[in-house]
Amino acid sequence: MNQVDQTHDPKLRSWIESANDGSDFPIQNLPFGVFSCGDAQPRGGVRIGDKVFDIFAGCSSGLFTDQAAEAAEAASGPLLNTFLKLGQGPRRALRGRLSQLFTTGSSERLRVEKCLLDISDVTMHLPAQIGDYTDFYVGIHHATNVGRLFRPDNPLLPNYKYVPIGYHGRASSIRPSRIPMRRPVGQLKAADTDVPRFAPTERLDYELELGIWVGPGNDQGTPVAIGEAAGSIAGFCLLNDWSARDIQAWEYQPLGPFLSKSFASTISPWIITPEALAPFRVAQPARPEGDPSPLPYLLDETDQRSGAFDIELEVLLLTQGLREKGLPPHRLALSNTRHMYWTVAQMVTHHTANGCNLQPGDLLGTGTISGPESDAYGSILEATEGGKHAIELASGEVRRFIEDGDEVLLQARGRREGFVTIGFGECRSLVLPAQ
Ligand code: CA
Repeated sequence: MNQVDQTHDPKLRSWIESANDGSDFPIQNLPFGVFSCGDAQPRGGVRIGDKVFDIFAGCSSGLFTDQAAEAAEAASGPLLNTFLKLGQGPRRALRGRLSQLFTTGSSERLRVEKCLLDISDVTMHLPAQIGDYTDFYVGIHHATNVGRLFRPDNPLLPNYKYVPIGYHGRASSIRPSRIPMRRPVGQLKAADTDVPRFAPTERLDYELELGIWVGPGNDQGTPVAIGEAAGSIAGFCLLNDWSARDIQAWEYQPLGPFLSKSFASTISPWIITPEALAPFRVAQPARPEGDPSPLPYLLDETDQRSGAFDIELEVLLLTQGLREKGLPPHRLALSNTRHMYWTVAQMVTHHTANGCNLQPGDLLGTGTISGPESDAYGSILEATEGGKHAIELASGEVRRFIEDGDEVLLQARGRREGFVTIGFGECRSLVLPAQ
């Protein structure tokens, strides 16, 4: 799997000073993304501290050889799909080389410096062409909380503990962090009427999710075995699956969510690699007493022993009132990827079990990851119990759902004793009024 190596050494420091002091992007992280500067074409970059390393410039100045060069060339263009397809070997070789180049005392510092840009001078783009997007539902506390709102006596349906539940989402409306989203309009039906009206959603919500970038993928008709599934993953990001709860409540039966989800999703632009997350792998938490064991095709000893992650996930809200008063964002939730009932490998294997082909650059979402307590609920639907309770903010404002002018920020951190903390960067988006 993903072993810890010299690139994770907590003593490693970079000559890029901003990488050394609590940045989301220390030398132990090294995520990949696509940026542009001025009118130039978007191209691949690596984030370190408050700098972006231009991979194309690095290739042109001959900084890479062998497998690292193969990976760097694949990651130098305007879309990273070819890089994602390469898989772990070349990706790991490139990571090792980048780590050398950025380490304090590197003899190539002068050449590398010529390839660096300030993050404040670039615009981030989607890192890959997203062919398909599938959203799962593996956050068991979220599934239980939402199920309880609809079915108080029977919150979890009987298939939940056997099937990694998912649905096909909309790839075309996924946008990178900092692109505003517009409040959607749709059919809303109040409980006390039989007829819907067409209006802007009154129940706009966020969903705190981990996004998963598919790497090599599989041929149609050739499922990915559970023991091989970790190799299909090329990286991770944050995903806000914006949701209109009133549109959803009216449209979701019998075929599931449609326009209540497809209007926009926001992702963090940096692809955090499986190698960077190796120190934060943990055992899949034991299932509660009485739960069934996964069926054999979803069960692998290595995956159970080290296929889960310990990553903190946070949702913050910034409103007009908080901005005007100079107050910090309000923390809506602090959760953790440990609350996933299924591992990422189980999601991949289940997705391909019927012969469905995943392709490099496909995006999977975990579904909302809530913790068991109310300070860890990953959607406002759960936090306010469907709008019953208001959240009070330091500005004096209250929120039952998300309002125009609000900005929702997701953040994530891997943190473990003996290792340097790494972050995902931000996933943020401002809500514009309906058109
Ligand atoms: Ca979702």
